[in-house]
Formats: sequence, C-alpha cells, structure tokens
Amino acid sequence: MQKREELYKGKAKSVFSTDDADHYIMVFRNDTSAFDGKKVAQLDRKGMVNNKFNAFIMQKLMAAGIPCHFEKVLSDNETLVKRLQMLPLECVVRNIAAGSICRRYGVQEGLELNPPTFELFLKSDPLGDPIVNEYHVRSFGWATEQQLNRMKELTFKINDVLKPLFLSGDMLLVDFKLEFGLFNGEVLLGDEFSPDGCRVWDKNTREKLDKDRFRQDLGNVVESYELIGQRLGVKF
Ligand code: C5P
Repeated sequence: MQKREELYKGKAKSVFSTDDADHYIMVFRNDTSAFDGKKVAQLDRKGMVNNKFNAFIMQKLMAAGIPCHFEKVLSDNETLVKRLQMLPLECVVRNIAAGSICRRYGVQEGLELNPPTFELFLKSDPLGDPIVNEYHVRSFGWATEQQLNRMKELTFKINDVLKPLFLSGDMLLVDFKLEFGLFNGEVLLGDEFSPDGCRVWDKNTREKLDKDRFRQDLGNVVESYELIGQRLGVKF
C-alpha cells in the first residue's frame, strides 16, 4: 500500500491517504503533548512503542468481537487502517477517579467509581475539548441516538475486555479515551489505544505508568509505556 498525501497532522500522529480509497496509513510520531498542546516534547522511540502497543490492544479487542479500524502493522511506526468518517467526540470511561474529574467535581484521586462513569467530550482544540451531554450530541447532530448508544455500548464492552487484561499484568486500568468513526454506516473504534490516552497504575504500589508521567514530570515516560506493554505481553 502506497503512502500518498498527509491529510491530517495531530499532536502525536499523522494520517496519510493511500492508493486505496478505503484505507489510510496512521503514522505514530515521537511527538508528545499535554495541556492542549502547551507542553510538548520529542520522546525517543515513543512512536514505535505506541504503534506496537496499539496493534496489540486492537487485536485483543477484535478477537473479543469489537469492530475496529485496525488492519495491519506496516512498519515500526506505521499502521494500515480503514478509512473512517470520524465522529467529533471523545468517549471517556473511568473506573477510578483521576485527572479532570477530580478537578471538576472536587473528588479525591483514587476514588473507586462504581459503576464506572461514561463521559463525552467534543473534539475541538479551539474550545479545549469541552465536556458535553447526550442531548448536546443529538441536538447539534454530532452523532445520532443510535450511533451514540453504539459508542456507549462498545466503550463499556472494551472496558470489560481491557480491565481484566491489565489486571492480569498487576495493573489497574484507571480510565481511557476512545474515538469512533463510521465505515459503511457502521460504528467502528478508530484512532488509537496507547498509554497516551489512558491511565494505568501499578496495582500494588499505585505508581502511575501512563502519560501522567509526562504531564507530571515523573520521568521515564517511554520506558514506562514499554513496561505496561511487556506486562501485557506486547513484543517490542
Ligand atoms: O484529562 P481527563 O482526566 O479528562 O482524561 C481522561 C482520560 O482520557 C485520560 O486517560 C486521558 O489520557 C485521556 N484523554 C485523551 N485525550 C484527550 C483528553 C483525555 O487521551 N484529549
């Protein structure tokens, strides 16, 4: 598959068109950003680590019956994906309180959330990805009720698959963010699943192993991403 034009350059990934109208190539770069792009860095090997991590998770999800855009890994930092029409929403599920939910509602980090919460954010850099509710989604037409229900159903199914997987590596899946898109009218998981978009703590020490290491200057960011992967069985 031939890489053509760079159609989209995000903060950590780029998307290229290919010679096939139904497929894109996703390139995982070493760029890292946090706080709406206010903190940026280049982290050696991060593109490769996230590409392989993402492939591993997507394959686990597909084996569990979750429809994903993932097709195959093409190189250390490139993956072939189905071309989706992305829905402009971020779906976040939280098993334990951390990050923005603590600031928003004044709850203590580490509080167990039972049942897990589901939140929607509008993908908009200029607006700083504001939290939105299901009525906003339907009234503004960001997704139909059916698409919204499917996103929610898939998000919780993904949590049911991944929580025990992380636990088997003595890790807690604190929260994660997903993005979905449409392929021939069907809702598919798009984007990526990597330690850039989830929180993972060591089960015993509660040490933060995910992107909070970058956000909070805890050091060893890529080494820690790799450690999560190794504990899950990812081959780097
Ligand atoms: O910042 P907040 O606590 O709302 O993030 C919830 C989860 O979603 C975290 O795992 C975070 O890494 C992820 N997230 C993301 N991209 C964003 C916002 C949040 O991957 N734009």
